[in-house]
Amino acid sequence: MKSRTKAVVIGGGIAGCSTLYHLTQEGWTDVVLVERDELTSGTTWHSAAQVTNFGMNQTMVGLKTHSINLYQELANDPDYPINYHHADGGIRLANTQAQMEGYHHFASMARGMDVHFEVIDAEECARRHPLISTKNLVGGLWDPLDGDIDPAQLCQALARRARKAGAEVYRHTAVTGLKQHADDTWTVETTKGNIDCDVVVNACGYRVNEVGAMMGVDHPVMSMEHQYMLTDTIPAIEEAGHRMPLLRCPISDYYCRQEKNGLLVGFYEQDCRTWGMDGIDPNFANALCPDDLDRVIDVLEGAFARMPALEEVGIHTVVNGPITYTIDGAPLVGPIPGKRNAFCIIGLRAGLGEGGGHGWLLAQQIVHGEACYDTWVLDPRRFTEHGNVELCALKAVEDYQNEFRFHFPNEHRPAGRYARTTPLTPVLEAEGAEFTVVNGWERVEYFKPAPDFHVTHSFRFDEAHDIVAAEVAAVQDGVGLTEVNGFNRMEVSGRDARSFLDRMSCSKIKSTPGRVSLAYLLNHHGMVKGEVTVANLPGGRIWVGSAAAAEWHDRDWLNNHIRADEDVQVSTLTNDHTILLLAGPKARDVLSACSRGDWSAAGFPWLSVREAFIGIAPGVVMSVSFSGELAYEIHVPNAHLYAAYRALRAAGSAHDLRLFGVRAVESMRLEKGYLHWKSDLLTEFDPFETGLDRFVDLGKQEFVGKEALLARQQAGPVRTLVSLALDGRDAAAHGGASVMVSDRVVGTVTSGEWGHRTGLNLAYAFVEPDLAAEGTTLHVDVLGDMVAAEVITPGPYDPSYSRVRA
Ligand SMILES: Cc1cc2nc3c(=O)[nH]c(=O)nc-3n(C[C@H](O)[C@H](O)[C@H](O)COP(=O)(O)OP(=O)(O)OC[C@H]3O[C@@H](n4cnc5c(N)ncnc54)[C@H](O)[C@@H]3O)c2cc1C
Repeated sequence: MKSRTKAVVIGGGIAGCSTLYHLTQEGWTDVVLVERDELTSGTTWHSAAQVTNFGMNQTMVGLKTHSINLYQELANDPDYPINYHHADGGIRLANTQAQMEGYHHFASMARGMDVHFEVIDAEECARRHPLISTKNLVGGLWDPLDGDIDPAQLCQALARRARKAGAEVYRHTAVTGLKQHADDTWTVETTKGNIDCDVVVNACGYRVNEVGAMMGVDHPVMSMEHQYMLTDTIPAIEEAGHRMPLLRCPISDYYCRQEKNGLLVGFYEQDCRTWGMDGIDPNFANALCPDDLDRVIDVLEGAFARMPALEEVGIHTVVNGPITYTIDGAPLVGPIPGKRNAFCIIGLRAGLGEGGGHGWLLAQQIVHGEACYDTWVLDPRRFTEHGNVELCALKAVEDYQNEFRFHFPNEHRPAGRYARTTPLTPVLEAEGAEFTVVNGWERVEYFKPAPDFHVTHSFRFDEAHDIVAAEVAAVQDGVGLTEVNGFNRMEVSGRDARSFLDRMSCSKIKSTPGRVSLAYLLNHHGMVKGEVTVANLPGGRIWVGSAAAAEWHDRDWLNNHIRADEDVQVSTLTNDHTILLLAGPKARDVLSACSRGDWSAAGFPWLSVREAFIGIAPGVVMSVSFSGELAYEIHVPNAHLYAAYRALRAAGSAHDLRLFGVRAVESMRLEKGYLHWKSDLLTEFDPFETGLDRFVDLGKQEFVGKEALLARQQAGPVRTLVSLALDGRDAAAHGGASVMVSDRVVGTVTSGEWGHRTGLNLAYAFVEPDLAAEGTTLHVDVLGDMVAAEVITPGPYDPSYSRVRA
C-alpha cells in the first residue's frame, strides 16, 4: 500500500469508483481508493440500477447524459464488456394536466442539453408499454434513453480502467481516522496503515457520517429503507418481441423495469422507514434489511391496477436495502463546508444512473477548481447550520413519500419548516404571511388575503398573481415594508482587509467611509463566482453582504483565499442581524418620521450607509435598491428587530405603508435589470457574457481570475445574457426553458417573471451572441408552446434610475 498519494477516495461503491476513474481522466493518476470490504458491498450491489436521462435542471440532465455515454462505452468495451440495457425507453406517468405541463417544461429544459424527451398521451403510453392500462392516466414523459445496468460490473469496469491509468484500489481496508495538517494535507488512517495525501474524498454511502465524524463534520444525509420485488416470467413479456420500457408512477409511487422475462417493481410507500439513525452495525456489509411487503400493499395495489399482468405472476425475490437521502433530494457533490482539500460525493439516491456524471463533475472540481457546469444544485454548502440529520430525516420521509411528484414553482412542502426564524416570523405570520424557504429561513413570499387562502401549484401564473400585483403597486405608488432574513453578512477585518477584497473582486470597490459598492467575484477561470455588496461603515468596519444561500459558499471562498502573509479575518453576522426593507417613493417620509438625521437625497444619496436609530432600535441603514424604487435596507440586530418594525409600522401608518413579500421583489428586480445569484449569475459564464462589463475594472493590477478573463475577452463571448419580453400572458418562462429559432435551440432562460409595473412578461436568457441585439425576435418553449419573445433593453423600468435616486 502506498504511504503517500495525491488523493484518497474512501468507499468503493459507484460514487467512489466513478470518482477514482474520473480523477485519472482529469490527469490525476497517483490516486487510491480504500474500501472497508469488497467493492460495491454497501448499497450499490443490490441496486435496481435504472439509468435515466431525466433531471429537474440542466446540470442534472447533463451529468446523466455523461453517465449514459460512459456506460455505453464501457458496455461496448471488447476487453471487459458489461451488461447495460441501453435505451429501452421509459415513461413517467401523469394523471393531471398540471403534471403534463411540468413534463413540457422539463422537455423544453432538456432540449437545451441536446436531450429529447417527448410528452405523450395515455394511448401512446399504452402503445409503447403493452402491459399498462390507460385508466386514470392523462399521459406521460417519454425518455428514449432510459435503461438499466449491472451495478457490480459497472464498478469493476470503472475500477479496472482507473487501475490501468495508474490508480490503486485497496479492498478490505477500512478508514479509521482522518488528520489534517497545518499545510492542509491529510493523513488517512486505515486498518492497514496510514496514507498521506493532498485531498480526501468521502464516498461512504450510508456510512457517510462515520467518516464525516473523523473530520468533525455532520453531513445532512441519512438513509431510508427501500424495497423492490422481482417477479417470475410474464408470458406477455416473453411474447412482446421487445424489452418493456421503464415506468415511474407519481400516482401510486412505484417504478418498474424488465428483469429477465419478468418485472422488477420498486416501492415508495407512505408507511416508510428511516434506517441507521442511531448507528449502523459494523458488520452490515453485503447485507439487506428484513423485507416487509405488508407495508407496501397500497403501492402494490396501484401497480396491479396499472399492470393487471402482475396479479397473475409469482414473486420470487424481495430486496430491501438502505438508500441515502438529503434535505432536498439531490446529492452533496463538491467541497466539504468549512474544510480545505476535502470533498464528498454522498447522499446519492439514484447513484447508479447518476454516479458516472457525479464522479465526472467532482473530479473536475478537485483537479480544476470548477466543473464544466455550474454545480450549485449539488454543492454541499447549499445547506448551512440548519442542515442537521434531524431535519434531513423529516425531509427524507416527505421526499420518499413524494418520490416521483416533482416540485412546482414556488412549492415548499411542509416537513421541517421553521428551521430558521427571526423574532418577526410569528408577527408576520399573524399578518397573513405565506412563507417561502431560503437557506432554511422562513421568508415572506406574499401576504394572504384570508387565512384559508391557498394556491394551486402550477407552472402557470397562480391565484397569488393578483395579490403580488397589488403588493408591487403599493410599493410603486407609496411605500412597502418587508423582512429579508438570512441575508448573508460578513465583517471582513484586519490590516489587509481592503487589499484582500480588492484582489478577490474584478470590480472597483469604494473605500470612502459611508459608501456602498456592488462588486463581483470571479473564479480562477474568469467566470462569475459571486456577487457582494461591500459597505464601508463608520470606524473602518467593512461589511460584505450576499445572497442568503451563499452563506457558506462565500465564507469558504473568501477564507480559502487569504494568503499566509495577509492579516484578514472573516466573521459572520448573518444570524445576529436581519434586514427590514423599506421601499417606495414615500420610504424617505417614513424613515424620517422614525429616525433622526438628514435622510434627504443630498444628505444620504443612493449607495450610502450609516448607523442610525429606528425609533429606539440601533441599526445600519443602506440606501440600496433591488426593486428600482427609492429604498432603504435597514440592518437591525435581532434583539431590536421587533422594536424597529414597530417604529416603522407606526411611522408608516400616516403613509398607508403596506407589507409585501419576495414574489413582488422578484417581479421588480427583473423589471429593473438586476440579476439573481445562481439563477442568472453562473460559473458557466464570464462577466462580459453576463452583461456586467461596467463592474469589471481591467485596470486593476491584480484580481482572482484576471488572466483567464483577459483570454476569454480575446476569444469573444460564447453566450450573451439578454432580457426578453414574451408574448404569453398566462405563464412565465421558467429557468431552463429553451430559446429557439425555428427548431434550433439558441439559448436557455435563467429566470422569468411577470413585470407588474411594466406589464411585460420578462425573462433573462443566455443566447448565441449574434442573436443578442435589441429588437431580435426569438421564441421560447414555454410549457410546449413556442412563444414569441423580443430582445429588449435590460431593466425596462425607469432606465434613468430617477426613482432610486429621488
Ligand atoms: C433497493 C434499492 C434500489 C435502488 N435502485 C436504484 C436505481 O434503480 N437506480 C439508481 O440510480 N439508483 C438506485 N438505488 C440507489 C443506488 O443504489 C445508490 O444511490 C448507490 O448505490 C449509492 O452508491 P454509493 O457509492 O454512494 O454508496 P455505497 O454503494 O453504499 O458505497 C459506499 C462504500 O463505502 C464503503 N465504506 C464505508 N465506510 C468506509 C470506511 N470507513 N472505510 C472504507 N470504506 C468505507 C462501504 O463499504 C461501501 O462499499 C437503489 C437503492 C436501493 C437500496
